[in-house]
Amino acid sequence: MNIILLGPPGAGKGTQARRLVEEHGLVQLSTGDMLRAARNSGTEMGRKVADVMARGDLVTDDIVIGLIAEQLDGEAGKHGLIFDGFPRTLAQADALDALLAEKGRALDAVVEMRVDEDALVDRITGRFTCAKCGEVYHDRTKPTAKDGVCDVCGSTEFVRRSDDNEESVRVRLGAYNRQTAPLIGYYHAKGKLRSVDGLGAIDAIAGEIRTRLGL
Ligand code: AMP
Repeated sequence: MNIILLGPPGAGKGTQARRLVEEHGLVQLSTGDMLRAARNSGTEMGRKVADVMARGDLVTDDIVIGLIAEQLDGEAGKHGLIFDGFPRTLAQADALDALLAEKGRALDAVVEMRVDEDALVDRITGRFTCAKCGEVYHDRTKPTAKDGVCDVCGSTEFVRRSDDNEESVRVRLGAYNRQTAPLIGYYHAKGKLRSVDGLGAIDAIAGEIRTRLGL
């Protein structure tokens, strides 16, 4: 099964992708994670995208399409995939169709996570993740059970994304509305769209996604 998680920043795509990985053995392909890894390791491409990411704008289509093509050629290409944060433009969506077709594969469904825009800024500016296992937390709505200790792996190191500040979030929301939201109509027209309410408890949303995917 190959699916896309589509939704604005802070909709919970990463959290739900992790659930699908744990429970259904799918492989998560997050272009945001790949770009952050490139930026943090200081590759030439990473240096090129750092400013764009910090601002909250989209990096160029050719860069992210290249990253996905590389993954499809490698180990990930042998598994069922969750595309998280990709595609974000119509050009990327067309490129993904072509890349999957080349491999004799196709997209099964696109899960749109709907979240009220006002809730997103609060969600994003409060979030942090365990530096070791990647579990996602929130200052107010999902703090660790024991202060400063990850509930899942016991690590005491946490990270906050440098672009999770209000200014960048506003730019990212603008980019989503202008460049990514048109994908909703694109996938609806192909009969692939499944919309879920992204507000509410993580377990309940995971259950709704499973139902909508027939898992
Ligand atoms: P994310 O972790 O998905 O929120 O992505 C973080 C940042 O990486 C975004 O704000 C963009 O600057 C960049 N990015 C990630 N995925 C894409 C994509 N598919 N197209 C363009 N830019 C992307």
